[in-house]
Amino acid sequence: MSKNTTNPTYIIKYLKKTVINEITRILNTIHIIYPKTFTEAIKIEMIQYFVKTFKLYKMSPARSERLNINIQCKLFKRNIRDKGFSIHKRTPPTTDLRCVARIWAEGRVVKNGSILQYGDRCFRKHISGSLYCKQHLKNNTHGDFNKPVDNKTAMNFKKFSRSSILKT
Ligand SMILES: [Zn+2]
Repeated sequence: MSKNTTNPTYIIKYLKKTVINEITRILNTIHIIYPKTFTEAIKIEMIQYFVKTFKLYKMSPARSERLNINIQCKLFKRNIRDKGFSIHKRTPPTTDLRCVARIWAEGRVVKNGSILQYGDRCFRKHISGSLYCKQHLKNNTHGDFNKPVDNKTAMNFKKFSRSSILKT
């Protein structure tokens, strides 16, 4: 049987698959960022829960319109971010006062000359006498922003980042 892409059953099946893939991707990302709090076991349990309880339902035109605008805004922001600009509400502390840890930054990867820059630099002030803020002093998952990424971090970005740079 050939796949009829206008067949409602096929569309629903495809949508379900897409949504579950997206949820899995998001949960994987949370696990990468908070590996100790959001453990592999919790991640698997949540994925199974979503697969089991996921349902599609009809939306009112007004709600659908609102959602559409929201999505457009998010896509626009992502495009800007992929071009190397970051959108931050706060201005970061000056370089010498800023924590040196690398943050996931929604999987941001930008090209800086010939090198790839993974994530972003933490936006908090470092504790006096330390290079890190309170949180990164306790747990620095992605290494320092001013140093090259280790293999594990590079792999995580390759696997879970949506940055267009890594897709080429
Ligand atoms: Zn920090």
